[in-house]
Amino acid sequence: MNQLTNQQVERFKGAFPSVKENESMVAHTYLKIGGLARLYFIAETGDAVVHAIETALSMQIPWTVIGSGSNLLVSDDGFQGVVIQTGDRTQKINGVSVSAAAGLFTGSLAYATVDAGLIGFEWGAGVPGTIGGATYGDAGCFGGEMQNVVSSVDVYDVINQKRVTFSHAECHFGYRDSRFKHEPLIILSTALTLKMGDVVAARLKISEMTAKRKDSQPQGLFSAGCLFKNFEFTDVSVLEKLQREDEIPETMIKAKRISAGWLVDKLGLKGKTIGKAQVSSIHGNFLLNLGGARAQDVLALSSYVKMKVRDELGILLEDEVQYLGF
Ligand SMILES: Cc1cc2nc3c(=O)[nH]c(=O)nc-3n(C[C@H](O)[C@H](O)[C@H](O)COP(=O)(O)OP(=O)(O)OC[C@H]3O[C@@H](n4cnc5c(N)ncnc54)[C@H](O)[C@@H]3O)c2cc1C
Repeated sequence: MNQLTNQQVERFKGAFPSVKENESMVAHTYLKIGGLARLYFIAETGDAVVHAIETALSMQIPWTVIGSGSNLLVSDDGFQGVVIQTGDRTQKINGVSVSAAAGLFTGSLAYATVDAGLIGFEWGAGVPGTIGGATYGDAGCFGGEMQNVVSSVDVYDVINQKRVTFSHAECHFGYRDSRFKHEPLIILSTALTLKMGDVVAARLKISEMTAKRKDSQPQGLFSAGCLFKNFEFTDVSVLEKLQREDEIPETMIKAKRISAGWLVDKLGLKGKTIGKAQVSSIHGNFLLNLGGARAQDVLALSSYVKMKVRDELGILLEDEVQYLGF
């Protein structure tokens, strides 16, 4: 990627005095990996996100928008442009209608909705990251998914340079997918519709899900959550290679989705290490930074896992983690 010129940097800094220069992305990713962002700007409002994008475009500065970096692998070379972090963490709850700014933490919103007597978003309590990131990637767990609760999304349409509201149907949600992954649309806020319900039961549900996470996922280590999407299938014949050797859990067959972690485990790849990156020994779909890992280590390990799963099981794993600066 071309270096920004001093003139580009100075002009952007003139428009946004709080922008930081040469900011390490280690500080802004859960994996604690990545080179320098040439410019780093925290946009405290939706208007500031739009203004920063329009300014970057007018100065021909590459730009990207991130939430809290919990699903992000940043290149060792960093990003020659401006990283815009959503920092608007406001929310409104009116009856069963909820509106959350893109920068609001998913976990905070989950607790706030339960405190307001609402149910349906308890699963969000344990998902790191922001509502913008969760909407972008249709985040979900324990049977809940953004697509089940989102009613509409306010975005900035970069091509037409205007704000638009998309209805649920217009968001084209799919498993860990949405139109926001495929078009230059920046999420400014997301509206959810929940239900009134039993708050005591909802709090209990959150505690149970937190306990399950503690049992099944590595704790206190640097990761980006699941590296790969689970494998979705329509035709059971693709599973022949698996079934010959192992019983596939009934829940996965019913859901038509084979857990990527289960596949990794089946091939005995837990604990596999390249450089300072390791496949977690607790959860086969968690790739860990053991301390000082480089993006190259993660890429090499992820490619190795994909190759093994393809060659031995005939399954192509797709990335869930998002890449920046490659
Ligand atoms: C320990 C751990 C556990 C996890 N568990 C789960 C889980 O149970 N379920 C699950 O689904 N995920 C899980 N994840 C992954 C992660 O939490 C989610 O993907 C989360 O929603 C990402 O949000 P973020 O704000 O951190 O996004 P980031 O990592 O900052 O960004 C991810 C992508 O979203 C884009 N993006 C972010 N904000 C916007 C915006 N406003 N507009 C447009 N694009 C945007 C970015 O450009 C990037 O491509 C886990 C991660 C970790 C570290």
